[in-house]
Amino acid sequence: MSTLTIRSLRKNFGAVEVLKGIDLEAQNGEFIALVGPSGCGKSTLLAMIAGLESVTSGEIRIDGRLVNSVAPKDRDIAMVFQSYALYPTMTVRENITFGMESRRVPKPQQDEAVKRVAAFLQIEPLLGRKPGQLSGGQRQRVAMGRALVRDPKLFLFDEPLSNLDAKLRVDMRTEIKKLHHRVGKTTVYVTHDQVEAMTLASRIAVMHQGEVQQFDEPATIYNRPANMFVAGFMGSPA
Ligand code: ADP
Ligand code: MG
Repeated sequence: MSTLTIRSLRKNFGAVEVLKGIDLEAQNGEFIALVGPSGCGKSTLLAMIAGLESVTSGEIRIDGRLVNSVAPKDRDIAMVFQSYALYPTMTVRENITFGMESRRVPKPQQDEAVKRVAAFLQIEPLLGRKPGQLSGGQRQRVAMGRALVRDPKLFLFDEPLSNLDAKLRVDMRTEIKKLHHRVGKTTVYVTHDQVEAMTLASRIAVMHQGEVQQFDEPATIYNRPANMFVAGFMGSPA
């Protein structure tokens, strides 16, 4: 179980300042959402938390420990992307266990972990299939299984449902909510969908042009938006 603390975080790509001093936190087991229009810096922020992008300045702490320079694999984080990024030539089972061998997890323990996660996500019948033989929703479930099996400190999601059709998106939203309820992991969830954020998160950070405009509970964001941008983006009553 883990906390995430971000202080005065900045990111430059060359001369362009993409994140302009982000302050954010997630408490132990909390589900926070990052929302904002395309290009506002959500994916960059998530990639920095995961260690996939370097920090220009500021701090990222997990459980109080400064991780700015810690390698991605040593951060104990699992990330689920929009594109799923499953290995097409491997079976579902192999996709889920990928990486366990190199971490020298014994085979019986791997099997046990796969069984547990597959039962939880109801994907047992799919374990022998290849990603090409799965529907979008099934693939998304496998991607979550792969994240879950590692039992990470933090879950990061980058618009995981945006490739799915509307009906499935709503179903999967419920699944993710259930998953969080049962697993209780600290989660940072990126979406450009306000409703998705309102349904899932206990706090929402509304971003615009590299800054957090407001970080609050959904009802507060909706009923008392900090500025015109937040009101407009969240569709708050005028
Ligand atoms: P979002 O996920 O909110 O749509 P991104 O974090 O992907 O936004 O991008 C934020 C800004 O940073 C955009 O203007 C984008 O063009 C820019 N950007 C992202 N990655 C890079 C990169 N590797 N090099 C240069 N600019 C980048
Ligand atoms: Mg993005």
